[in-house]
Amino acid sequence: MPLYTPTRNAQRYLGDGKAKVVHDLLNEKPECGALDIIAARNGERFVPDKLEFALSLGYKACPHCLPAYAQPEEASPAAGEGGEGGEKPEAGGA
Ligand SMILES: [Zn+2]
Repeated sequence: MPLYTPTRNAQRYLGDGKAKVVHDLLNEKPECGALDIIAARNGERFVPDKLEFALSLGYKACPHCLPAYAQPEEASPAAGEGGEGGEKPEAGGA
């Protein structure tokens, strides 16, 4: 975790207020279209700037920059999941 913020008003997570998708700007991919989101003024920032908080607001994790958190639209059975990491994000609501 960096001890400094690279830019002023730095935020890690960018929410697409229209598509209800949250992006991780530290792992941004061209498919995310973050600039398009901002240009369209659909960008939402989260306070606190946490993924868990964004998800709690009903945002879906972007499959490009947050593949570990993205969930498929339709559950596909018989999907050969290789190995489970065993790490779960703490859902500390308190
Ligand atoms: Zn993304």
